[in-house]
Amino acid sequence: MNSVRASAPQLEGLVPYDPKYLPAQAMLSANENPCDIDGALRDEVMRAVAEVAFNRYPDPLANELRDMIAEANGLSRDHVLVGNGGDELLFNLALAWGGPGRKLLNVPPTFSVYAANARLTGTEVVNVARGADFAIDEEAVIERLSRGDIDFAVLTSPNNPTGELASEEFIVRMLEASDALVLVDEAYFEFAGRTVVPLLAEHENLIILRTFSKAYSLAGVRLGYVMASPSVIRELIKVRQPYSVDAVSQAIARVVYANRAAFDPSIKAIVAERTRVFEELSKIPGVKAYPSDANYILFRVEEAASAWDYLYDRGVLIRDFSASAMLEGTLRVTIGTAEQNDAFLGSLRDFIDER
Ligand code: PMP
Repeated sequence: MNSVRASAPQLEGLVPYDPKYLPAQAMLSANENPCDIDGALRDEVMRAVAEVAFNRYPDPLANELRDMIAEANGLSRDHVLVGNGGDELLFNLALAWGGPGRKLLNVPPTFSVYAANARLTGTEVVNVARGADFAIDEEAVIERLSRGDIDFAVLTSPNNPTGELASEEFIVRMLEASDALVLVDEAYFEFAGRTVVPLLAEHENLIILRTFSKAYSLAGVRLGYVMASPSVIRELIKVRQPYSVDAVSQAIARVVYANRAAFDPSIKAIVAERTRVFEELSKIPGVKAYPSDANYILFRVEEAASAWDYLYDRGVLIRDFSASAMLEGTLRVTIGTAEQNDAFLGSLRDFIDER
């Protein structure tokens, strides 16, 4: 046959997620930790990898790693599930709680993957848009949840790309407004230093997402996890690919998690640089920076798309949201090393000066 029948109808017109994977001197586009794992910790990681049996399937549920994460959070193994990056767990959530006839409450502008997964799984998305300066319309979210027809909701805290934490008081109100499953995406929690883990004890409808891709310098390894009640974890296990977390990733993640205190200095340095970059950005005429609790800063600048090109031509790769809905005119810079941040600030100042 020299033709093929159409793919599933929900794929029509769908644009695949494009993280704009481009080489650059200063990679400040993907919210990674600018420091790779090195020195003694890297040696320990390599020793663990050397012991992996490549001919054997991995432990499907990564139970050793689950136990370590559970213990660190005062939980037991049945409250934790590990995935191939947080992305896989987000897809599993859409498979398990979404689907035709079901509804996701989303609070845009936010991480685009939630809505993309909803579309793939035929889930209806109910958007409650953020207001001025990206503040959550708390009353509108609670009112919408209280109607009782939402199956699951997502709240990103700190939010990507806008940067701010949601208040714990508001999250409790969301959890009590209905029995919808509420995902609090804490991918950037290590830079904010605040978590809603203590709420798990009293709220069966809470699920928290974390990742090794940001603070723990493992974006290349693909490791994320969720914490929730055992009743929620059991449903996610039904939809997951049995061997999605490979043995090499499990071995690396165990070593990194056991040594996670070693990342504290780089997290502190990123947080200190975040303050400096925010202050410097705020001094540039025509630039408005949004306060951030994460390892990136969203900012508004005139001719944002041209600014992105200008920076890229000078070796600085940041993220262009200027054509994204509700984010028009904005760019997002990941906090890198002091040198990378200076390269970014210098080029942006030059761009403004040349206008
Ligand atoms: N949630 C948010 C808010 C993110 O920004 C990301 C990474 N872009 C993820 C989840 C998923 O990260 P990963 O798949 O690398 O664990």
